[in-house]
Amino acid sequence: MKVKLINYTRDGERLIAQAGKLCYSPVGVDEIMEDLDDASIEKFVKMLMKLGHYSPLEHVSFTFAAEGVSRTLTHQLVRHRLASYSQQSQRYVKLDKFEYIIPPAIEENKKAKKIFLEAMEADNIAYKQITEELFAKYYNQLLEKGVSEKKAKSDAEKNAIEDARYVFPNACETKIVFTMNARTLLHFFEVRSCNRAQWEIRNMAIEMIKCVKDIYPSLFVNAGPGCTHGECPEGNMTCGKIIEVREFFKNI
Ligand SMILES: Cc1cc2nc3c(=O)[nH]c(=O)nc-3n(C[C@H](O)[C@H](O)[C@H](O)COP(=O)(O)OP(=O)(O)OC[C@H]3O[C@@H](n4cnc5c(N)ncnc54)[C@H](O)[C@@H]3O)c2cc1C
Repeated sequence: MKVKLINYTRDGERLIAQAGKLCYSPVGVDEIMEDLDDASIEKFVKMLMKLGHYSPLEHVSFTFAAEGVSRTLTHQLVRHRLASYSQQSQRYVKLDKFEYIIPPAIEENKKAKKIFLEAMEADNIAYKQITEELFAKYYNQLLEKGVSEKKAKSDAEKNAIEDARYVFPNACETKIVFTMNARTLLHFFEVRSCNRAQWEIRNMAIEMIKCVKDIYPSLFVNAGPGCTHGECPEGNMTCGKIIEVREFFKNI
C-alpha cells in the first residue's frame, strides 16, 4: 500500500483561526488577519476543538493518492459521503492481467494462500477469455452495421472489457485520489483507525494520520479512534486495549 498526501490547504490552522475569530469577535474581514501569531492560532484551534465548534475546520482540505489497495478498501472508503473521489477506471484502463492484494492472514497460511492464488489465476484467465470472446462478437456486429474497422476495434474492445470486468474479485488492486476536509478527516480517523475497523482501511487511516500530524499538530493532536480523546464508543464490542491504543496514537 502506498498513500501520499499530494496537496492540502497551506497555512490551514491560520485559516481555521481566522474563520473562528470572525465568529467570536466583533471584527470585519480586514481585521481577521490581524494579531494572529502562532500562539494565538494554536489557542483558537484548540478552543474550537474543545467546544465542538467544527465548521471552521471545513475550510481546510487534504488530497491523498493511494495505490496498492484493494477494491474491498475503496468500497468502504467511498461510503464516506462528505469527500471527493477519482478512481482508476476498470473500463478505460485495459489490463492484460489484474493485480491483487493478499490479506496478511492468507499470506501467512500456506494452504489458504494456495487456494487464494489459484482463485486469482482462474479469475485472470476467465477475464482474458471473456474479453476475447466478447471482443469477437462485438467487433463482427459493429462491422456488420457498417462501422469502420478502426472504430469497430476500439468500441468492441471497450465493450468487451466493460463486461469482462464483472469477474474481477474484491481483492483487485486499484488506485484512487480523494479529498477530505479536516472535519471529515477527523471523523474518518475516528471510525477507520479503530481496532474494530477492517485491517486494510485501518492501515490506510494510520498512514494518513502520519501524513497530516506533523503538518498541523494542533488540529491533529488527538487524531485517531474515538477512544484517543474520550471513552471507547464501541461499548460491548470494545477491543479492550484502550491504554495500548492511546499510547500507539500518541506516538505516531
Ligand atoms: C467498523 C465498521 C463497520 C461497518 N459495517 C458496516 C456494515 O456492516 N454495513 C454497512 O452498510 N456499512 C457499514 N459500515 C459503514 C458505515 O455505516 C458508514 O457508512 C461509513 O463508516 C461512513 O460513515 P459516515 O456516514 O459517518 O461518513 P460520511 O458519509 O462522511 O458522513 C459524515 C457524517 O455526516 C453526517 N451525514 C452524512 N450524510 C448524512 C445523511 N444522509 N443524513 C444524516 N447525516 C448525515 C453524519 O453525521 C455522518 O457521520 C461500517 C463502518 C465501520 C467503521
